[in-house]
Amino acid sequence: MFLTVFLCVTEADIGHFWHLTDLHLDYTYGGKAESCHNEVTPSQRGMFGSGLCDAPWALINSSVYAMKEIAPDVDFIIWTGDNIFHPRAKTGVLSMDIVLNTLDNITRLLREVFPDVTTYPTFGNHDYFPYAQFPSHDNKIYRHMEITWGVWVNDSNFRKTFRKGGYYSSSIRPGLRLISLNTNMYYTRNRLSLNFTDSDDPAGQFEWFNDTLAAAVRNKEKVIVIAHISPGLKGYEGFLWMYKPFNDMLNRVISRYMESGVIRAMHVGHDHDDEFKIYYDNKGIPRIPVFIAPSVTPWRYKTDQLEFGRSHNPGIRLVSYDRFNGRHLNIIQYYLDLDKANKDSHAQWQLLYKATDVYDIPDVSARSLSNARELMLDSSKKHVQDYYERLTLMGDTSKIDDKCQYSIYCGMRYFDVPGFNKCLDKYYSLAFRPVASSFVIIIVTVIISVLF
Ligand SMILES: [Zn+2]
Repeated sequence: MFLTVFLCVTEADIGHFWHLTDLHLDYTYGGKAESCHNEVTPSQRGMFGSGLCDAPWALINSSVYAMKEIAPDVDFIIWTGDNIFHPRAKTGVLSMDIVLNTLDNITRLLREVFPDVTTYPTFGNHDYFPYAQFPSHDNKIYRHMEITWGVWVNDSNFRKTFRKGGYYSSSIRPGLRLISLNTNMYYTRNRLSLNFTDSDDPAGQFEWFNDTLAAAVRNKEKVIVIAHISPGLKGYEGFLWMYKPFNDMLNRVISRYMESGVIRAMHVGHDHDDEFKIYYDNKGIPRIPVFIAPSVTPWRYKTDQLEFGRSHNPGIRLVSYDRFNGRHLNIIQYYLDLDKANKDSHAQWQLLYKATDVYDIPDVSARSLSNARELMLDSSKKHVQDYYERLTLMGDTSKIDDKCQYSIYCGMRYFDVPGFNKCLDKYYSLAFRPVASSFVIIIVTVIISVLF
């Protein structure tokens, strides 16, 4: 007698979405070029941008049209903030009207190019006037953008939470929910946060985030979380973007729901680099992938005395996922070779990599990315070097050293400074960390946190 075994195989229902972030439009690029370093002459400003300036409209326009050309039939778009340029002068250049007009113009572009596709936006720290001072109460910018962005968001509570703190939740489809957090309220450049105490919850966002995740578990939904500023460390550079109490609080809410598997992934911007991180539970099991998407702007910082930031090309990101359960299948990263585009007077956006190919993993779940992370310890440094070059979208191909290798490896896992330092010490003995370099790290940390 033969026993017939029927295997019940559910094929993934594969969908795609775009992730667009850190556009930083400099609408003065063709004139005063307020975002450009002083030494950039008009003739050095290519039509699609320059590495020492923020993005001209031609670059932003071309990024959105490239998205349409590459994958027009996406299920939705996530847009994680920072649309205003970094002004060279500290005061007198930006205003509330400039912020609102810029946000409206980019919203209009997305609606024109993708009229039938929902975009889920979130604010970046630059999308406020005065810079980064997002309040935890009703104000002109929340009210204005509530109308502009409300056309995309399908949730009866949208107005209530958005007006209070610029955050919201929306059902993408039955069984899959999006949560958009306003982490700018926790940013170390937000002076208003200085007035909060450790146990405060600005605009009630932590409580709401917790309750929304609890409801998603009850309703058997999966969740994709978006935000501008990531919890945890600035990439592998060892400092927090957020005030420590807020960073701890956010990590605590996320940790509470790790084992439930309700959060499928988190997508952020802000760093301008292409990176990933992974939340592990306290048993060391990889649970939640955090994807940091690279910026559209090629901007990096320079003054007459100082230059930092890596040369990098503009990027746009396509994500594939299983519509049935929200599982993330792949990161498909596109970029623009900026020098070539300027030389050719034509923007040819091209594929940089597919994550499953470069790491030889079946998907981009936390477990698969954890395997990819282990590749970074390779003694030949091949994988970590490739990771570093992709991080800059091939803008910087300089050779990395041991310290950089271990910092990347540790920065992928630890969302708190002591955990990161302990990991670094394990792999890179303190004896080899010269005092002078610690001093440089402190100085660079202060400068970076002032600028982004
Ligand atoms: Zn930015």
